[in-house]
Amino acid sequence: MKRKTLLTIDDSPSPLMDQRLEFLRQLDIRIVWFCRGDNLTERPESAIRALREGHILGNHSWDHPYFSTLSLADAADQIDRTEALLERIHLVAGVPRTVRCFRFPYEDQIGSAEHHQALQEMLAARGFEASGLRAVTDPRFRRRAKDLSWFWSYDLEDWTLRSSDAPDAAPTLQRVLERLTRELPQRPSGLEVVVGHDHAHTVGQWEATILRLLDLDCEFVSLEEARALTPPARKPSLVEALP
Ligand SMILES: [Zn+2]
Repeated sequence: MKRKTLLTIDDSPSPLMDQRLEFLRQLDIRIVWFCRGDNLTERPESAIRALREGHILGNHSWDHPYFSTLSLADAADQIDRTEALLERIHLVAGVPRTVRCFRFPYEDQIGSAEHHQALQEMLAARGFEASGLRAVTDPRFRRRAKDLSWFWSYDLEDWTLRSSDAPDAAPTLQRVLERLTRELPQRPSGLEVVVGHDHAHTVGQWEATILRLLDLDCEFVSLEEARALTPPARKPSLVEALP
């Protein structure tokens, strides 16, 4: 059976986002792009194109700080400046904002329990929503399923990729692809939320990781389709099956 997969890509828009949008358009794949405010000011037109082609844009802070070390005022500033841009980009694109999603850089929101709580309340006050992806079975994801910052269930580790002209680019890509090939088929069934990165130095390599996911029987679903999925039926344990 195909593995339902929601692709989420962080740190957008990069100078390669248009090329990546074209690649996804040809494969009929729609994803969630978590955008940085500073990158949105550089390349708003890529974000506008993504919206018009049916993708979802999320907030990934202004310039990617560690939120565990930020004051609450600075955290709010990071979120609000990026939100203001995202709002404007939706308006210009003529696409209504149907989802308000957020992902912390490095998923580093925690700090103390109080800080984590205060950040969650800050996101709630701004109308951010939990992912609502009930079909994910990965236990780490499940533990954080109610968080208003969207976690992932599988990391492509494409952030380890080297610049395409670096001497170790090819063996590094090989390692990333081999890991996917080894690990992904062993994963429990259920929706997979894959995280990758819109980094400008991974020319061509980014596409190779997506193609490998397809080779491994991943079926990419849109956020809307992913949210409509129900958890796979669990076989009752022997004890539960007793009368
Ligand atoms: Zn990031």
